[in-house]
Amino acid sequence: MFTNLSSLSGRTVLVLHAHPDDEAIFTGVTMRRLADAGARVVLVTATLGELGEVHVPLAPGETMAQRRVAELESAAALLGVQRLVLLGARDSGLPGAADNVHPDALAAADPGRVARRVAALIEEESAEALVHDDGRGIYGHPDHLAAHRIGAAAARLTGVAAYQSTVDRDHLHDRVTRSHLIHAAAEATGLPFGVPSADVALRISGSAAEVNVKRAAIAVHASQVSPESLGHAGFDEAYGYEWYQRSGGPAILDELVAPAAVPA
Ligand SMILES: [Zn+2]
Repeated sequence: MFTNLSSLSGRTVLVLHAHPDDEAIFTGVTMRRLADAGARVVLVTATLGELGEVHVPLAPGETMAQRRVAELESAAALLGVQRLVLLGARDSGLPGAADNVHPDALAAADPGRVARRVAALIEEESAEALVHDDGRGIYGHPDHLAAHRIGAAAARLTGVAAYQSTVDRDHLHDRVTRSHLIHAAAEATGLPFGVPSADVALRISGSAAEVNVKRAAIAVHASQVSPESLGHAGFDEAYGYEWYQRSGGPAILDELVAPAAVPA
């Protein structure tokens, strides 16, 4: 798909997300490009997303968590994930919900304890980088804030390169009017989302093929995402870019962005 890359074979990136569907929405192009370049992509999803909205009927006896894990497995396969790890915490719901303090909620978990689990995975996989949520929890959802705290702590424990997944607020304001899922998500939390363009350290721009895979990976989360929210003409402008902040210097994700060709 993306041909201007040196091979990343033998190298591993661990990607930590709060819910099933975040991997596709926020880092789908990045994961697919890593996989296409030969890197091993390990996806760690912290909750089962059991408090998500239900857009489709469940089968008799089926739970929301079962449906969401099945969707996650399909998305992970599309994105080239070689190992999927579920941490099994409970979805914490929106800010202020009683679910925030449920004993099994991710938001109520000791971040140090969960970070040690993530750090153990990083070491077991010899991963060189960790992707996790930005300090704002992208749009302020309690599980995304928890994923930030856990990811930042795991990166400190292991010393790997850390990339914080975010969205470019200016881009989404100026060029994408209310057609990204983040707009509705941020409305639900009542909080601002993302960071200004100037605070983005790395922008990965998807090829047409990568964006098509990303769209397919989001679409398999059919319990959460309606077909109408993906079928619009502005999809590429909304989802064709992925944005990161870094706590250290350039590392493996920066290698995914081909330098401009030097004229002979
Ligand atoms: Zn989420």
